[in-house]
Amino acid sequence: MDLLIDVHNHTIVSGHAYSTIQEIAAEASRKGLKMIGITDHGPAMPGAFSSSFIGNLSILPDFIYGVEVLRGVEANILDQSGKLDVPERRLKRLDVIIAGLHDACVRPWDTKGNTLALINAMENKYVDIIAHPGNPAFQIDKEAVVLKARETNTLIEINNGSFYSKSRFGSKDNCYEIARLCKKHEVSIIVGSDSHFSFEVGRFDKAIKLLEDVQMPEELIMNTSVDKLKKYLIKKGKERYGKQANTD
Ligand SMILES: [Zn+2]
Ligand SMILES: [Zn+2]
Repeated sequence: MDLLIDVHNHTIVSGHAYSTIQEIAAEASRKGLKMIGITDHGPAMPGAFSSSFIGNLSILPDFIYGVEVLRGVEANILDQSGKLDVPERRLKRLDVIIAGLHDACVRPWDTKGNTLALINAMENKYVDIIAHPGNPAFQIDKEAVVLKARETNTLIEINNGSFYSKSRFGSKDNCYEIARLCKKHEVSIIVGSDSHFSFEVGRFDKAIKLLEDVQMPEELIMNTSVDKLKKYLIKKGKERYGKQANTD
């Protein structure tokens, strides 16, 4: 399986990651990736950037070392209403928005509360991807989340880092169940490395095994074609692709 895109990468700006954008792009180029996202944690994460960092991402070149760069963020979901820690005026200028629950920012609620938080975050039209929904620290009604993703055209992330992460230990079974539900309901998924060091960029080993195990149809995997992901972003009305969207 050839996965050419890794939209989930953290730089030193996240406060607990260790590479620069340039180092991430260089590694992506070396590995033959075609597109990366720079998606540092939102400002509610202890040690993360001030929001002016996001505001100036537009100065980045569209391509670095031949790899197309999406300007993004991994926003924190702050409450059950799905409120994010990044204001709309910033979200609307970015190319890709990942939203997720992190126990460094919020205490997990019960299953109903966690599910509501994700479902309401997906009501936000700027949100493209739900990060690591298999995290056992935040138990959810998986089918409800997957169905909401279908309704709102939101992508479900299969987070390769979750298979290695100590903080999300025990994600595997949840990730398999979520992937099977996505297949059943024809909801698109996107694999992310969730890299916090450049060498991890494009590391998809466990996620690929999962996709093979559940026999995920290729058309539901957003990482296999830059065109496919761009079409999705155009449909979501991203400013970067505004011209194409208008002529569509
Ligand atoms: Zn992180
Ligand atoms: Zn995360």
